[in-house]
Amino acid sequence: MKFLAVIGNPIMHSKSPRMHNNAIKFLGLKGIYTRYCLNNDLFLKEELLKIGFDAVNITVPFKEKACKIADFKDEISTRVGSANTLCFKNNKIYAYNTDGIGFLQSIEEFKDIKKALILGAGGTALAIAYVLKQRGVDVYIANRSSKRLQYFNAYKNSLYKDLQDFNFDLIINSTSAGLMDEYLPCSKEILHQLLSNAKFAFEVIYNKETPFYKLCKKYDLRVKNGFEMLLWQGVFAFELFFDFKNQREEIKTAMLQALNLD
Ligand code: NDP
Repeated sequence: MKFLAVIGNPIMHSKSPRMHNNAIKFLGLKGIYTRYCLNNDLFLKEELLKIGFDAVNITVPFKEKACKIADFKDEISTRVGSANTLCFKNNKIYAYNTDGIGFLQSIEEFKDIKKALILGAGGTALAIAYVLKQRGVDVYIANRSSKRLQYFNAYKNSLYKDLQDFNFDLIINSTSAGLMDEYLPCSKEILHQLLSNAKFAFEVIYNKETPFYKLCKKYDLRVKNGFEMLLWQGVFAFELFFDFKNQREEIKTAMLQALNLD
């Protein structure tokens, strides 16, 4: 019997319990996936080990701390310094980041991307930048403020107001602008220049039509939101939880069914 959970704050909105429990049921496995709200990350390691989870997903705002407490890290969590999946084995913590590969899987049908611009410089931007660069894409980052750009020295980066290149195949909004408000990540004028030239756009937010997503639909390009990224990061985490390799389609079907219940 596997004891699993998603850890974060806030956590009530998380769709992960529904996704994972449906996959457990669909595949006839023994396990339960719950949600757990932590006030702070001061004793993250101690609390997780004390509760006795077999594995967990980690969400905002604990992904960086989750990476720090791990004894072993996969390549992407090592490189980006954040983890969304932890597995506990023999009192050791193994950290993984499935957000990046979840993103890549969700843009499978976006072909011939040579140059991409990521709007935003948070943890999600780091994971997406890393996997795109690994795929040979020329990656640029732009943000509204300079502080977090220091983590993107491996990429060309600038403030929105200093952007000089507006020719990208793919524009990704990785900011939380539009999540709880009606803001665009940057000015409409800048977005107009970017979206007029782009072939594809991606919005990481999945639970509403953000102003960025709505704006993209007015241009002659293909646009996707973060729904499939959410789905795939869950599928890859599930494979790690149960050490599965050959049942990806079944896991995906079960999780998709759970997500479409709304
Ligand atoms: P962070 O807090 O690490 O980063 C937030 C980024 O957004 C920063 O660059 C910040 O800029 C920028 N930002 C926030 N508000 C605004 C605004 N009003 N205008 C312009 N820029 C803004 O967040 P994460 O990277 O962890 O997450 C970002 C988003 O990705 C969230 O909405 C989250 O829900 C979503 N997400 C979706 C996933 C999926 O599966 N679909 C997976 C993971 C995340 P500054 O540095 O100036 O503050």
